[in-house]
Amino acid sequence: MFRMKNSIREQNSIIVLSEIINRPEISRAMISELTGLNKATVSEIVRRLIEDDYVIEIGPGKSTSSGGRRPILLTVNKKAGVSISFDVRYDRISYLITYLDGEKIDYTIEEKEMTKDNIVDSITSVVENFKSTLTDSPFGIIGITISIHGIVNENKIEFTPYFDLDEIDLVSILEQKCDLPIHIENEANLSALAEAAFDYEHEHIVSFSAHTGIGAGVILHGQLHRGSSGRSGEVGHTVLYPNGVNCPCGNQGCLEQYCSTKAVVRKFQRLKGDESLTFDDLVASYHEKDSSTLNMILQFAKDFGIGLMNVIGNYDPEVVYINSELLEEIPELISLLQHYLSMTIYKNVVLKQSLLGKKASLYGATVMNLQKFLHVSNVEFSLNMEKVLEVE
Ligand SMILES: [Zn+2]
Repeated sequence: MFRMKNSIREQNSIIVLSEIINRPEISRAMISELTGLNKATVSEIVRRLIEDDYVIEIGPGKSTSSGGRRPILLTVNKKAGVSISFDVRYDRISYLITYLDGEKIDYTIEEKEMTKDNIVDSITSVVENFKSTLTDSPFGIIGITISIHGIVNENKIEFTPYFDLDEIDLVSILEQKCDLPIHIENEANLSALAEAAFDYEHEHIVSFSAHTGIGAGVILHGQLHRGSSGRSGEVGHTVLYPNGVNCPCGNQGCLEQYCSTKAVVRKFQRLKGDESLTFDDLVASYHEKDSSTLNMILQFAKDFGIGLMNVIGNYDPEVVYINSELLEEIPELISLLQHYLSMTIYKNVVLKQSLLGKKASLYGATVMNLQKFLHVSNVEFSLNMEKVLEVE
């Protein structure tokens, strides 16, 4: 029942479907114009897409300038299937369930320590509960994509520095338990896919994530750039201070030992000689203009800026989306970082605070589910960004 009914493999069908997905509405004539396929071919493909529940007709559009018949507009059948995304950190699991257009059905965050011993049950219980409520959906659950804070290559977790997920074959276990397509991908890569899906202007995008670790997701020519083994954008493990702090990656002085949220909170605790202090205490101390905290944050900004410029130098993006809890709380740091860039050859690169925040990798996972299910390489959400930001 939850298997996909059809998969689209024929090249022209994919081209036509991509045009329909990436717009709120479109006519057959417009598809023909945009794709170069003749009208009879487009009509035949659309007939099959409607028959297979991928596409629906939404009524007549405006009449053409020549005054002809008003064309029937088409749109993707948003409610025909459901995507499930998970984001797994060492201290938290969250999930997002959406229709095919990204519209939210459920979004939940659970703070708990995640290990190889509880991850399978944590995921399958959400999926089973949701399955029991899902009726009359032509495609059912189209797929499950899991965002991992670590290195992922060819659907295998290769390295998770702060927990032990790399010790199990998560995809094989979940495929057996859930009987659904399961995909896993690095958190920063998925965040980049999400930023690209909402950014209609740029083709070269970096998403720079700083949470428990630091990583960059890279979109070049509109496509996710993974490198030969999924290690592209592993900026967290570029060396900031030779012979510096030991890192679980095997190196010393890595950027993420100085600029991850975890590292900054640890530094704040040492500065104040109190291990019970939290991230919220750090932010409060900054806003109270405590001078030692201000100095510490200034040093953080300098270190962060070096990491940022290293990524920009490697990939030459037009825009960098920054996704960091700390910069969300102290947004003036973005202007400071932009000022650092303005003094270098990277002055044309635009820095933006990610509006998607902690939901970025979840929306990226939704994009990946759609890409795999529909066999399309590009998904632009026609969903209103404001609607996404309301999701709590
Ligand atoms: Zn490292």
